[in-house]
Amino acid sequence: MAVRAKKQFGQHFLRSSDTARNIADCLPMVCPNCLEIGPGMGILTTQLLEKNINLKVIEIDGESIDYLLANGIIDPSCCIQGDFLKLPMPQFFGGQQFMVMGNFPYNISSQIMFKVVENRDFVPALAGMFQREVARRICSPAGSKEYGILSVLVQAFYDTTYHFTVDEHEFNPPPKVKSGVMSMVRKENYTLPCDEALFFNVVKTSFNQRRKTLSNSLKKILNDNKLDDSIGQKRPEQLSVEEFISLTNTIAEMLTKK
Ligand code: SAH
Repeated sequence: MAVRAKKQFGQHFLRSSDTARNIADCLPMVCPNCLEIGPGMGILTTQLLEKNINLKVIEIDGESIDYLLANGIIDPSCCIQGDFLKLPMPQFFGGQQFMVMGNFPYNISSQIMFKVVENRDFVPALAGMFQREVARRICSPAGSKEYGILSVLVQAFYDTTYHFTVDEHEFNPPPKVKSGVMSMVRKENYTLPCDEALFFNVVKTSFNQRRKTLSNSLKKILNDNKLDDSIGQKRPEQLSVEEFISLTNTIAEMLTKK
């Protein structure tokens, strides 16, 4: 039984078990539980099952689920049919922490990452494949051209590593873009030394108007306060995570003084 790839689910199936093994080997083994998002026909699942972990999979496509079960690739008790974005994170492993793995559906990459960051208490590590630019963005340092919201929000809580690039011809059907494999491990102390809600707001608002200086783009948050030119004249891609934290503290102080 063959499953035909469906565009609406962002399906691009990996062809080579060697590549799947190389991706699975990027998973930092920091926890006994692992959730694979989008197993498709199970090429990565098979590699993950070789490892000493409790694996569950979540897949939106009923036809893929039927294939996985009919071929005995995974036990029905470890197989969830559903939309990863719609299910509450704590329920996957009964309130326990779990690693996240996948050859992720590229059309919802950012949403997957934002959900993981939001639920960071449950996710000590993640590894897998995204569109190459997204994988690079997650891992890139301040000042690089890919640096953006995802880089700052992920790197505030996780140490990230870019592993390798995968060519489009390794997939069926081939995507239009190259793919990149990355991993990330939650920092030992991942509580930020600033107001976290304000930090998210400052980072998102700064990058929403990427070309503007921070003084301009943050006007709404600043409420008539003025940033010092040494920081206010900068653009968001110039600020490291630490500088965003200190900017958040500066703004918090300004707002309480008023
Ligand atoms: N891991 C497989 C398939 C990758 S394609 C392989 O490497 O070959 C991405 C997979 O994610 C598809 O099987 C698709 O059906 C699934 N998917 C897409 N959106 C999803 C969602 N919101 N929740 C869970 N799975 C999803």
